Amino acid sequence: MDSLYGMSPAELALACAFRAPFRSRQVHSWLARGATSFDEMTDLPLLERERLKALIPRIASSEPATEFEDPDGSLKLQLRLTDGAAVECVMLEDIEGRKTACLSSQVGCPMACAFCKTGTLGYLRDLSAGEIMEQFHFLSARRGPASNVVFMGMGEPCSNLGAVRKAISILSGTVGISLRKITISTSGLVPGILELAEKGPPVRLAVSLTSANEELRSRLMPVNRSWGLAALKDALTRYQVTTGERVTLECAIMGGVNSSPASARELVDWIGGLQVQVNVIPWNKVPGLPFVEPTREELEAYMAVLDSAGVVASRRMRRGRGVMGACGQLGETLLVPRKVE
Ligand code: SAH
Ligand code: SF4
Repeated sequence: MDSLYGMSPAELALACAFRAPFRSRQVHSWLARGATSFDEMTDLPLLERERLKALIPRIASSEPATEFEDPDGSLKLQLRLTDGAAVECVMLEDIEGRKTACLSSQVGCPMACAFCKTGTLGYLRDLSAGEIMEQFHFLSARRGPASNVVFMGMGEPCSNLGAVRKAISILSGTVGISLRKITISTSGLVPGILELAEKGPPVRLAVSLTSANEELRSRLMPVNRSWGLAALKDALTRYQVTTGERVTLECAIMGGVNSSPASARELVDWIGGLQVQVNVIPWNKVPGLPFVEPTREELEAYMAVLDSAGVVASRRMRRGRGVMGACGQLGETLLVPRKVE
């Protein structure tokens, strides 16, 4: 059974053996607000609360194991799951105080990108909708409610779309976060992008392009060997046609690898008529991986090419680095059991 936080009112009705439909809506609404015990649900009769406590002694399935605070205000939480596995999630806060919850969708990641810490851990399993929602609630309980949610933690959200979709429906429904403030970041799993284009939800889409060079992208991101740059572009065009939204392209830049002006020009050419904004992410150091951070000069030259071609580009701030909670660093402080093939 999934944790109550990931359940629809209909599923709650079954799990809690409610007879009256309004009870499950009441409990659903409390859970969406992050209630941690039935005692808090004060509009339920006392006897009903006692019955529920006896039936379901623990509401959450995971529990916070470790917290790391960065001087820049970011908070990274490690959660221990019922099977002993662990995941990480991060609350980032910008200078205006806007909070963004960065959530994981899987334990480890099957995509094995060469430059990403999570990619080196291997893949253990998908998270349930409840385990995803619990990350959101644990973060919000410590830092106040997040106004934005990004699926940019551990894992490939498009290979766990069922649970991610379910969590999004709770976040955008009862929790009240607009779909425009929810972002799914994918490494470029074309079937997942097409499914989102056809069936929604119409969240914001970010794609980790990294490089527009077929051979280099295949080396850095094995997903490109199955769905190459042409198939990816077709899928993004489709997404754009159905949603009308500008897609974000994320480019993690590694010094001397994909940092040259020629790489930037390849990117400009590949973008062509797509409506995109590019997020340039200076590679965050991951001990043991054979890459270096780009120099300031490399980054400036790269950005200048995008700029002169009229491509909207921004440089991602390096929030969370002090707690290894920045892009691609999740898992550095964590031991995830490797799945035995
Ligand atoms: N799995 C999803 C979302 C999580 S990764 C995806 O790949 O899109 C979030 C972003 O961090 C991705 O754009 C990824 O390319 C980038 N990234 C991974 N490792 C990084 C690192 N060490 N430094 C900087 N960015 C990194
Ligand atoms: Fe997985 Fe994203 Fe890391 Fe690639 S970059 S290994 S898809 S988490």
